[in-house]
Amino acid sequence: MKERVIIWFRRDLRLADNPALRAALDGDFDSIVPVYIHAPHELGDWAPGAAQRVWLHDSLTAFSDALEALGSRLLIRRGDTTDVLDTLIAESGATSVYWNRLYDPLTIARDKKVKQHLADNDIETASFKAHLLHEPWTVETKQGGPYKVFTPFWKAIKNRAVDTPLAAPDALPEVWSRIGSESLASLELRPKIGWDRGIRETWSPGEDGAHERLETFLADALETYDEARDEPARPGTSYLSPHLRWGEIGPRQIVHRIEEWLDEHRETKTLRTQADSFLSEIGWREFAHHVLYHFPTTPDEPLDARFKDFPWARDHEALERWQQGQTGIPMVDAGMRELWETGYVHNRLRMTVASFLTKNLRVAWQHGERWFWDTLVDADLANNTLGWQWAAGCGADAAPFFRIFNPARQGERFDANGEYVRRWVPELAKLEDRHIHEPWKAPAKALDTANITLGDDYPEPIVDLKESRREALAAFDEIKNDK
Ligand SMILES: Cc1cc2nc3c(=O)[nH]c(=O)nc-3n(C[C@H](O)[C@H](O)[C@H](O)COP(=O)(O)OP(=O)(O)OC[C@H]3O[C@@H](n4cnc5c(N)ncnc54)[C@H](O)[C@@H]3O)c2cc1C
Repeated sequence: MKERVIIWFRRDLRLADNPALRAALDGDFDSIVPVYIHAPHELGDWAPGAAQRVWLHDSLTAFSDALEALGSRLLIRRGDTTDVLDTLIAESGATSVYWNRLYDPLTIARDKKVKQHLADNDIETASFKAHLLHEPWTVETKQGGPYKVFTPFWKAIKNRAVDTPLAAPDALPEVWSRIGSESLASLELRPKIGWDRGIRETWSPGEDGAHERLETFLADALETYDEARDEPARPGTSYLSPHLRWGEIGPRQIVHRIEEWLDEHRETKTLRTQADSFLSEIGWREFAHHVLYHFPTTPDEPLDARFKDFPWARDHEALERWQQGQTGIPMVDAGMRELWETGYVHNRLRMTVASFLTKNLRVAWQHGERWFWDTLVDADLANNTLGWQWAAGCGADAAPFFRIFNPARQGERFDANGEYVRRWVPELAKLEDRHIHEPWKAPAKALDTANITLGDDYPEPIVDLKESRREALAAFDEIKNDK
């Protein structure tokens, strides 16, 4: 007798290189039932934030359309996952449930529970690797155990064979019309007040959007990735992070497409170097997942235990001014405003604003991590945790605490003509290049000419950069020698 399988889609909203879907198609099933289960309560504090929900709404729309074009349909359900699956099994007569694996602690715990529950009810389950190039437990140091430093981690895996991506199906079996779905609108993922316009104008969520981004990157930016990736005014990076977050494209597809593109362009040494530099960023993503898998408490606690006692400032006003891009430090404000407007901020700025918050303002990194979680369309528990702990100096392969980014110097170096700052902090638009990153040092005449009264049109700096740096180093000295 032919059987039926449920595919439980989560953060793998794609048809191509989707091993759970492929296994279902290759299995002996006469019907495939695709479902997305909305269960934010199962993810505790790390349920998708506001910007991610905006993305998810559009991504589910795109995925649902893609399934329909092949003759299938995405069912949307909500509730406790086990209950939803039980109901769907009863309605469809399914005997198997397939999904692709994820690696954050709450998802792992939930998935184990679901798997056990289904096994207890004689339902076959299978899970697959789709989200990473290599499973976190397959990489270990020579002494055994997980890596805490990126370079040896990447050296250990960068030449490992990467599975060939699976093709997308040409057609899918129909889903019985009597199996109902909730409406996407009923999940209320989009905000009632339309603050999400900037996000929606900036991005094209979905599998097609992801591949367009990759092709644009290959055509316009890969050849200059190493130089341009640090300049926030240039579109020098791939902008694939939110697509990777929701699995609209998988890392295997990216790696294979890069190699194919190098072949098509008769790989030169220069192109290879640029491509390797980009691929090592995909490596950082693998590393972040490796660290999160092996150190599952890191979203809340520093990996370096000394930082548990760090004398963080409890300065709510400073945190708010940072969140609103009103610190009076142009590079910081530009970054925070880009984040608010588009749900994304350039990596150079992520490092700069995170260093500023945790070191110059000495606000605990978890507050920044939370704000990013709510405002980034690409917020990812592994990458965000690693990024914040890196910036605060308390994580795996972290920047040493005494490395404190000076936002003004960052601006002079990576936004020399102030284009990025002018784009996001328009009140400074008329200020000459040489003053744009330090308006508080500009002579009165230069401010007058640019129509700026500091403290009125644009804030005075919230802290003195040198003084706050000195204070941060002194605070670090207090914990430095503790074990
Ligand atoms: C404080 C802080 C917080 C961050 N939070 C996130 C987050 O929530 N989600 C997220 O995806 N990235 C995060 N990053 C990493 C990085 O800033 C973004 O991945 C990158 O800016 C995304 O832009 P892109 O896709 O154009 O990157 P590209 O330069 O084109 O890189 C390609 C891909 O490699 C991966 N990648 C690149 N840099 C890193 C990195 N440092 N760590 C891990 N993976 C990386 C991403 O998946 C990215 O899409 C954070 C970094 C910092 C310093």
